[in-house]
Amino acid sequence: MNAKGILEDFKKKFGKRYSPYSRSVREVNQNFLFMVKGEKRKYLIIIGKSLPGEFRGSVIGRIKRGNTHLFLKLAELSHENMEKLRQIFPWLSPSPLGLKASFGTGDRLGIATPGHIRALRNHRVSPVLAQQSIREISRTKRTLEEVMDSALWGCFQEGYEGPFGADADHLKKMDDLKKAVRIGYSMFTIDPSDFVRADLAARDKTEIDEIYQSMEGVSELERLYLEKNYSIKGNELQFERELLKNIIVTYLPAIRYAIECYRYLKDYKKEGFDFEVSVDETPFPTSPLAHIFIAEELHRNQVDFQNLALRFVGDFQKGIDYIGNLDEFERELYLHAAIARDLGGYKLSLHSGSDKFSIYPIFKEKTRGVFHVKTAGTSWLEAVRVIARKDPSLYRRFHQFALKSFEKDKSSYHVTTDISRIPDLKTISDEKLETFLDKEDSRQLLHLTYGSILSKRDEEGNFLYRDEIYRDLFQYEEEHYSTVSSHIDKHLCLLGL
Ligand SMILES: [Zn+2]
Repeated sequence: MNAKGILEDFKKKFGKRYSPYSRSVREVNQNFLFMVKGEKRKYLIIIGKSLPGEFRGSVIGRIKRGNTHLFLKLAELSHENMEKLRQIFPWLSPSPLGLKASFGTGDRLGIATPGHIRALRNHRVSPVLAQQSIREISRTKRTLEEVMDSALWGCFQEGYEGPFGADADHLKKMDDLKKAVRIGYSMFTIDPSDFVRADLAARDKTEIDEIYQSMEGVSELERLYLEKNYSIKGNELQFERELLKNIIVTYLPAIRYAIECYRYLKDYKKEGFDFEVSVDETPFPTSPLAHIFIAEELHRNQVDFQNLALRFVGDFQKGIDYIGNLDEFERELYLHAAIARDLGGYKLSLHSGSDKFSIYPIFKEKTRGVFHVKTAGTSWLEAVRVIARKDPSLYRRFHQFALKSFEKDKSSYHVTTDISRIPDLKTISDEKLETFLDKEDSRQLLHLTYGSILSKRDEEGNFLYRDEIYRDLFQYEEEHYSTVSSHIDKHLCLLGL
């Protein structure tokens, strides 16, 4: 009995109703498991004499092999069944990736993982397949658990045996961190921005002094850092008093929060994990000295972090290329990368990393390939591209809606999008609709309004676009995968991976 024969038999008998994903077939103790695509949804099929792991589902038939009859069970792609599958196949569990170059692919719709894997498996890079910020999760009305499960079903479908990471991204609250630990995430991105004092420029010196004097432990920090010299690539960087004071007031509470999160993880996640600290959402770039202070303080407090996300100079808007002066970016990055190497033990992490094609070669060169890149919305945009091609009328409907929803949706993002520059939908033919995905303003329009598009309902409570979007992407699944995959591939090639 072999997998190929079983699949042939299955196709003969059930091929009209269910088409198997051939890469997913796995054999365990003479039982065969694989995924199939039905008319409206996907299932897990288990074929065997006895049914392993007691998957929840129903027996829909038998297959005769020689003298033996094999049961054939059809099971839902549920959380419960995924748990069983993970017990059988340990490679379905995410693991820490350490300091290897890594690339994160958020998946807002929860169906893009096979496309991601098709790109990532051809490159020398560690994938982070489940990666979603708490903000994105609440906008798409999903849960940390669903994000994880959909990535794992994607791995199983593609027969991808890892390794890969799962990133609970931009965690701001201890409760969310605890949830992510329980679900089995392997990477935790702490976003302590609620504790970053980003408004010093608006305060006067006495006010800053008062805050500083009220902080605990500053005399020890003065002893450690004051007048201390760091020689980085011929640049002498020194913590002068005022500078140190400002850095402490800005970042110290945030660093302390990150330390608290790390200690919790250290106690509860004995099998190890990747830890990222992100200060990328400040309104001003992270200065080289602030970078040094943050990394030194984390190390001094025994925080073994793998990634540090700084706010780099220039503008990193969602889903479009870098906006800013490339020479300035290169100069700053040169220093940050040298600092990271000197202090050692961590990678620089690039957030809002999708579509920053013009800086990838610089990023790769300056960090010498020691980096992590996060992308998310760009995969959604590629899904929208497929809809623009295949279902122009649906595309037109939600494009129109996005224009109305834009003002409200853009409020939590920093963008320079000007929707008045977007051509009138009526003047664009069906064949040209996807060009909206190639221009910055319309790309950002669709990028920022994803939450509203996916959650908009009519008076009866039915989704206005969501169900049709999923239906189309299910129908044109291969095109969806290849479109996402080639877009991610472009990223990986330019990053030299
Ligand atoms: Zn970020």
